[in-house]
Amino acid sequence: PADRAGGSQYSFHKAPPLAIERLTDVIRVLQPSEHTCTEDAAVTGFTTDSRAVAPGQIYVAVEGQRVDGHRFTAEAAKRGAIACLVRSLDKAEPNRNCIAVGDTIRALGFLAAAHRRAMKTKILGITGSVGKTTTKEITASVLNTTFHTRKSEGNYNSTIGLPMEILKLKPEDEWMVAEMGMSYPGEIRQLMEIAQPDAALWTTVHAVHMANFASLEEIAKAKAEIVDYLGKDKILIYNADDPLVSRFSAPFRGKKFTYGFFDPQTDVRARMEPFSDWDATPFHLEFGNGKHQLLSLPLPGRFNVNNAVAACAAGLALGVSGSDLVSALRCIQPSAQRSKLYAYDGDVLVVDDTYNASPVAVENVLRSFAPLSPRYYRWLILGDMLELGDEEHDIHRKLGESIAGYGFDQVTLIGTLSEFTYEGLMAHKRPNCKVEHFPSVNEAAAALSGPIPEGSRIWCKASRGIRLERFVQALTAKL
Ligand code: ATP
Ligand code: MG
Repeated sequence: PADRAGGSQYSFHKAPPLAIERLTDVIRVLQPSEHTCTEDAAVTGFTTDSRAVAPGQIYVAVEGQRVDGHRFTAEAAKRGAIACLVRSLDKAEPNRNCIAVGDTIRALGFLAAAHRRAMKTKILGITGSVGKTTTKEITASVLNTTFHTRKSEGNYNSTIGLPMEILKLKPEDEWMVAEMGMSYPGEIRQLMEIAQPDAALWTTVHAVHMANFASLEEIAKAKAEIVDYLGKDKILIYNADDPLVSRFSAPFRGKKFTYGFFDPQTDVRARMEPFSDWDATPFHLEFGNGKHQLLSLPLPGRFNVNNAVAACAAGLALGVSGSDLVSALRCIQPSAQRSKLYAYDGDVLVVDDTYNASPVAVENVLRSFAPLSPRYYRWLILGDMLELGDEEHDIHRKLGESIAGYGFDQVTLIGTLSEFTYEGLMAHKRPNCKVEHFPSVNEAAAALSGPIPEGSRIWCKASRGIRLERFVQALTAKL
């Protein structure tokens, strides 16, 4: 969808400020052309998955490419849904408590916009090509030292996921950290109109989710909607090391707050400290007039320091003290499948990073092996990178060539696109690097044999669709 606004009566900026607590609130805000609700009840939440409906929730029927959610309104009701948002009554199975709203996703956004306006909560929106979820998690921990803070759960960052998260806002929430994803132009604008953020944070622009874009510049332009739709009295926090982020942030007229590694002019800077293993990544945080602190991030990889500095910049910009930052960073917990580190006997560390993969993210992983002490056994396990558009074969081949330049002891490649990674790697590989390729996770898991070498440092990465976590399970079962 290019823009869901077309023809809908639900313009987000016209949403009335009204907390959505009961079914009557939903009807008052949506003013549907027709509905079959006969009694009122408290609303416990919203869901688009009929199989996951909990009692008291409202089921939102979404017409997907493969399935039409309208087929499951009866099932949702059976599981305790108190109402269903549907396109029109004739689309749904005959059912009491159906609310006809036309575009159901738009209606969900409108409800969230109304609820958001009824709350005093301030919202920080986070966008960028990579690092949104990680930055969101760290920022929420940082803000939570000082403010009652809510965060959008998991990866709920779309025009469906974000409204559902905003609808969870409670009067006691002082800040909400909300991830904003983008897969087509106009999407960030809609999220901004719904969430009306008080501050925004922009991490990076990279070639990920390329399928809908012709160039990096176009991705930057679409992400820059976060700048365009942020009010002049608001705060923009951005990565000064990223040239496209900096260029598109420059026109912002409100308060700007920058972070990065390189430019001494930035408000919050990181300087790496030498380290030799993945369990702690030390860095100096510099801000204000030469103030600096040595921090230790319990996440592997320099790229995660970038996310931590973003979070520190957000914290400082929004009123967290330097000492609270330090204590928050000390206890960061990585989310499942994102740079999540597991330690085993025999001095083996395994990083489960199987949620997501793109060329830039993989390059960052390769670099994360560089500081390791030479005595470790370096093992990269890499699955396909998806959503790369027409150039996916070339991109994988080039990645293979790049991998050859790092001193790996073993590289395991998994997936059909990884065949090209294999080609690129084999053309340049060093003699003492063991390389294997398997078309599928199952075949790779079946081929696992022999003990895992002592002192292994293993990083497992792939796009989510590859389901590399099943290989990680097979691997760690041997440890
Ligand atoms: P998604 O598009 O799935 O929502 P996201 O922007 O939320 O992604 P994360 O889930 O935080 O990003 O990280 C995704 C992957 O990108 C990580 O597994 C990591 O390898 C890589 N990554 C995270 N942060 C950075 C960064 N600052 N720079 C480069 N790569 C990063
Ligand atoms: Mg994410």
